Amino acid sequence: MLGQTHRLAGIAAGIALAGELNIIPIERPFAFAGVIFVSAMGSLMPDADQPNSTIGRRFFLLWLPLYILRMIIRIIAFFAPSMKQVSRGLAHRGISHSPWFWGVFGALLWCVPWMRNEGVIYFYAFFAGIATHLLLDYLTGGIPLIPFSLKRNHPPIVFKTKGYFEFLTASVLGIWIGIMVLSYLGLRPAIRRILVMLIRYV
Ligand SMILES: [Zn+2]
Repeated sequence: MLGQTHRLAGIAAGIALAGELNIIPIERPFAFAGVIFVSAMGSLMPDADQPNSTIGRRFFLLWLPLYILRMIIRIIAFFAPSMKQVSRGLAHRGISHSPWFWGVFGALLWCVPWMRNEGVIYFYAFFAGIATHLLLDYLTGGIPLIPFSLKRNHPPIVFKTKGYFEFLTASVLGIWIGIMVLSYLGLRPAIRRILVMLIRYV
């Protein structure tokens, strides 16, 4: 999946979550924007395992430690072939794309008292973003579902990155985000009128 599709899914998840948590933009603009921003960041985070990804290009500190670790393990694997497995697990769509890794990460983060109190909306937002990324990558090539396994699990039908499924997903997300933005701007009756008109003419 392309970075922009992941980001659209993250923004959509953030808007939906803010609605679920009753965070109304006029009442709490910073919390509303924060939830969407954190969710969008979460939706890009798993791809921090590659330098040329949307997030990797901006924050090299995210992928650099993993990259150095991978290099060291590759050198060790030269002498100890059993380490090749570990090196492969650190490659793209490896550890950062496995739900168990984010489960452990989330459990550790939950130990920080701020995360369970004032920060809880951002905690949910971050993992909502991560969940959209893992789901979309699961549908387009697969992700490792079993801990320490290198096998990428995927549904019986796998969609292609940059294919019609990606185009359709991005379009639906984009339209939904557009409708939500207009509705937050108080233009809900206008949207309804346009939709009714469209339905009448189609
Ligand atoms: Zn990915």
